[in-house]
This record gives sequence, C-alpha cells and structure tokens, in this order.
Amino acid sequence: MSTFSAPKGTYDLLPPDSATVLAVREALAAPLRRAGYGYVETPGFEHVELFSRGVGESTDIVTKEMYTLTTKGGSQLALRPEGTASVLRAALQANLHRAGGLPVKLWYSGSYYRYERPQAGRYRHFSQVGAEALGTEDPALDAELIILAADAYRSLGLGGVRLLLNSLGDRECRPAYRASLQEFLRGLDLDEETRARIEINPLRVLDDKRQDVQRQLVGAPMMRDHLCEACKEYHERVRELLTAAGVAFTDDERLVRGLDYYTRTTFEFVHDGLGAQSAVGGGGRYDGLSEMIGGPPLPSVGWALGVDRIVLALRAEGVELPLPANTQVFAVPLGEEARSELFALVTELRRSGLAADFAYGGRGVKAAMKAANRSGARFAVVAGERDLAEGVVQLKDLESGDQEPVTRDGIAAELVRRLG
Ligand code: ATP
Ligand code: MG
Repeated sequence: MSTFSAPKGTYDLLPPDSATVLAVREALAAPLRRAGYGYVETPGFEHVELFSRGVGESTDIVTKEMYTLTTKGGSQLALRPEGTASVLRAALQANLHRAGGLPVKLWYSGSYYRYERPQAGRYRHFSQVGAEALGTEDPALDAELIILAADAYRSLGLGGVRLLLNSLGDRECRPAYRASLQEFLRGLDLDEETRARIEINPLRVLDDKRQDVQRQLVGAPMMRDHLCEACKEYHERVRELLTAAGVAFTDDERLVRGLDYYTRTTFEFVHDGLGAQSAVGGGGRYDGLSEMIGGPPLPSVGWALGVDRIVLALRAEGVELPLPANTQVFAVPLGEEARSELFALVTELRRSGLAADFAYGGRGVKAAMKAANRSGARFAVVAGERDLAEGVVQLKDLESGDQEPVTRDGIAAELVRRLG
C-alpha cells in the first residue's frame, strides 16, 4: 500500500481484467472500420466554451459535472466530458467537410471525465468508444450507426442489450411542440429547479427519473404526435431500415436528448443487468450543433458507447471473451550457464511471433516451474549446462507433463510449428 490511492470515482485497470477492456474496445471499433469510419484523436481538454455551447448550458454535464481549470496563462479549459463537440471542432478546424465527400465518418476511443456521484457503473473517469457521421442528412446513415452498434454488442456475445428509439422533430415542428409541452408542465406541482428547467429545456423534464414527477407527466403532449410530415417520413424510414437489418427496437416517446440542436433520431442502448446505470450507449442526430459552435450547417449523427458499463454487462451475463494468448512458452534455465542461452532463445521466440517469457530472478527450479505453470504457457523449455553441451533443450508439455529433447537449433521452428 502506498500513501496514495486512486481518486474517488476512479479505478485502475489491471491484468487480467484489463485484457477484457482492450478486447471490448477492439470489438466496438471493428464494425466501424469495416464501414469506412476513420480514427480521430483529440486532446483530453478543450476550451470550456466548446462544451458549454456544444453540450449545452442547461445540461447536467455542463452545469454540474464538468472539471474546469484555469491555466497559468489564464485560459479556461475543461477536461472533456464527452466526445462529439471535440470531434466536430476538430473536423471543422481541419476543414474535413470541405476536403472530400460527405459524410465525414470518424470514430474515437478514449477517457472522459465527469464530476458525478460515484456508484456502480457511474465513475468520474470512464471510457467511451464513439462514432460520428458529419454533414449528411440521410435516414440510412442514422440506421447505419445504430446497426453498427447493435452488431458490436452482438459480436461481444451480449444478449441483453435493448434499443430504445425516438424522434425529437426538427426546426419545423419542435418549437410548437416545445411551447405546448411548456404550457402543460407549468400547470404541474414541481420543485424550483424543475420549474426553471421548463423554461430552458422542457424536454429534459420528460426524462426526470423521479416517481412523483413521472406520475404527473401522464397525459403530457408527446413529440411523436407533433412531428411534421418530413420528420415522420424520416423516422419511418429509419425504423424500416432497422427492421430490414434485423435490429429490434422499442419506440420510447419519453427518450429525449433535451437540447435545441438535437434533432430527429435519438436512441439509447440499455442493459437490464446493470441496475440504475442501465445505459450502455446512446446517440442521435444533431443537425444544429455545427452552427452552435460557429461552423456551417452540417447535419450529423453519432453515438457513444460506455466501455466500463459494457464490461459490467459482460460480467452480469457471465460472458467470457476469447482473449489473445498470454504466454505460450516459458523458459526455465537450470543453472547460471544456461541462463544467457535460454534468454537468447526467448528473444528468438518472440521475434518469431510467439509469446514467450523467462524465469527471471535466479530463483530455484521449483519456483521457476511454478512460474511457468502460473503464466498459462502451454510449453516450458528447460535446459541445463549438460543439455546445451549436447546441443539440445528439453521441451515440456505443461498440459500432459510429457518431456522430450529437441535440438537447440530446431526448437524455435518446432515451437512455431506447434503453436503458430
Ligand atoms: P446516464 O443517463 O447514465 O448519465 P448519459 O446520458 O450521461 O448517461 P452519454 O453522455 O449519452 O450518457 O454517454 C454515452 C454512454 O457513456 C452512456 O450510455 C454510458 O454507457 C457511458 N457513461 C456516461 N457517463 C458515465 C459515467 N459517469 N461512468 C461510466 N459510464 C458513463
Ligand atoms: Mg449522465
């Protein structure tokens, strides 16, 4: 134990669990690569203004959850709480939307920071894999992203992920709906903070998790009944494309991303094995965001999937991912003279593409064999002075216990043949 421990709401990723996390990130990224998404990496912090405008002044993320700091030079920065605003900022800055054809398709993977109340599945430092398709309004693009996420969850062997789907309308139909919702909400018995929300961001009230609020919301006007023809048609097309792809969904008229520039398609992936923190991913269309951060009109759609919670979902379902082999061969020298020779062999094996490890520290043979077994290696290569004088090493199968001499010169090729 050191004097220090990881800050509240954070945790360290250590072997063997860390291998699962790498495998999850890889599984989430693989469908994106196959669909033409290019990898993007942005800084871990940005100007605070990007998020207050790009995520929204009225969101919990901006009002309560952001880690902000003032630099020695006086700049106001924030640790990134989410990925979309940064990715769009980067694409605009590099003029990607002018360089080639649209949409610009990007994916990312990294750490995000929110000052939250820590609990199972809710951390202050967490990991997301995300994707954004910028500059095109096409229901097939919304469907593509949802299908890619659904396929990613399925490729991990997760059976319990459900997709909730809704449409939030657009600049045509949302303002009238928003006004009628406000009128309804003003008549309810709500606390101060929620009343304030009615004026800034009324759709967010629909998302309130409290029982007494939900009870009052029965009979509230719903966006679904106020969609304009274009939005209705767009949403119907997305639904058809999902159905044709075999992606099941539940229409959820309460699902909102309550910002003015979130438009049309909105969705969330939930897993029922996770308790209160059930969202394992979410996203939607944000046709107005580019303009909000000073860019040209650039209708876009994207999602972010929560890696930490996906790992918890795998655990809840008892899914063990097939992980890449750790050590395949473990070298055990018998005595000092054999040490340098077997160390050289380990390097040779690694250069041949095998995962090989060595009994370091010069402890006894018993401890070394124990280490070999603990490493998970299939084979041990054991050799002493006398073996090497005869030009051989002993190849021991750690599963069967069988042992046979193999020439020193031929051992690498033999192991590649058996393990490669
Ligand atoms: P929630 O409703 O659970 O707070 P959110 O709407 O804030 O989620 P998004 O901003 O949509 O979440 O982020 C996408 C995904 O990132 C979520 O679905 C979730 O899986 C994950 N996520 C968000 N916040 C956290 C957190 N504090 N700790 C762990 N994972 C998180
Ligand atoms: Mg949140």
